[in-house]
Amino acid sequence: MAVTWIAFHLTDRCQLDCQHCLRDPGQKPKDLSLATIRKVLGEARRLYSTKQVALTGGEPTLHPELEGVLDAIVEHDFTWHVVTNGRRFEQLLGLVHDDPARRARLTAVNLSLDGADEATHDTIRGKGSFRDVMKAVTLCAAHGIPFVLQMVLNARNVHQIEAFGLMAAELGATRASFSMLQATGTHHDEALALPPRAWQNAQHRVERLAAVLTLPVTMPEGFYREQPFHVCEPMKSELLHVDVEGRLNLCCQHAGVPSEGPARDVAADLTTTSLLEAHRRLLGIIHETQAAKLAAMAEGSLGTWDHFPCNWCMKHFDKPHWTDEGARGPEAQRERWRGAWAKKVVLPVVR
Ligand code: SF4
Ligand code: SF4
Repeated sequence: MAVTWIAFHLTDRCQLDCQHCLRDPGQKPKDLSLATIRKVLGEARRLYSTKQVALTGGEPTLHPELEGVLDAIVEHDFTWHVVTNGRRFEQLLGLVHDDPARRARLTAVNLSLDGADEATHDTIRGKGSFRDVMKAVTLCAAHGIPFVLQMVLNARNVHQIEAFGLMAAELGATRASFSMLQATGTHHDEALALPPRAWQNAQHRVERLAAVLTLPVTMPEGFYREQPFHVCEPMKSELLHVDVEGRLNLCCQHAGVPSEGPARDVAADLTTTSLLEAHRRLLGIIHETQAAKLAAMAEGSLGTWDHFPCNWCMKHFDKPHWTDEGARGPEAQRERWRGAWAKKVVLPVVR
């Protein structure tokens, strides 16, 4: 076990409004401060010899001091990858090429692509966004930059698993990644929800695809686990997640999502607390969570949805996410979450 990477939630800003987005566009966007990034990079390098950084958001390329962030990564001798919707890829490319050290440390650009065709992707992520990603793919290929295509599976694109994998291989991606939709707890993703059996079928199809493609095919945390006591990357402390407010937070799927009561998934404010002390507190959160899972196992109270680790985790932390079928999180939280003010999107449910 080692802290192998640090993920910085750089900003809440984004030009898109994807149906499954977990951020709250009703809030004034925040940006992670450069001073906090520098502090955490220094501590992580010194304490853990961590070498890899992930830049996420929101859309990380919209961070007002992105150039300074890349310089800090170089100064602290980290390698980096970025998760992006591709809309500002040319600007990112410009920054990368301004300094060979930034380019040398860039390990991958992870492009969010939610369909194997324009219509499917744009229905979920907004008009024009498929073309943004394809343009970014072309530029990556032209400049020899490794890129990953990552899809959030849901009811509207689950039929395209195989087509997506083949497309990723054909375009020259270094990896295809399929993640499981985490419900927002609002009406925005009602049309994207799938029942447990459909998720397990999708998972089996991804596994079969991985067996036939030479391209690596991965599935981040979230999918069904036969063994209920599953220990994910964040709970092994292999990944430390810094949220947009500069706090050490259990993981990106929790960060910024309101919980009922105090935010029990937040370990400490890194602007005022050392990374080591914050990590010590995080271990307490992890231990408490794992003990709660063991208690539920002892009671025999786990249902099918509880075998989806992130789903159980969200429920444990009182997040407005799924608990059994569809959006079943705390009603009170949904009131002050995204659905309370945004325009209702009515889409036919695809099963
Ligand atoms: S691109 Fe990412 S951050 Fe932006 S709206 Fe879509 S899911 Fe949210
Ligand atoms: S939501 Fe919980 S179970 Fe899922 S990756 Fe995050 S910490 Fe792990």
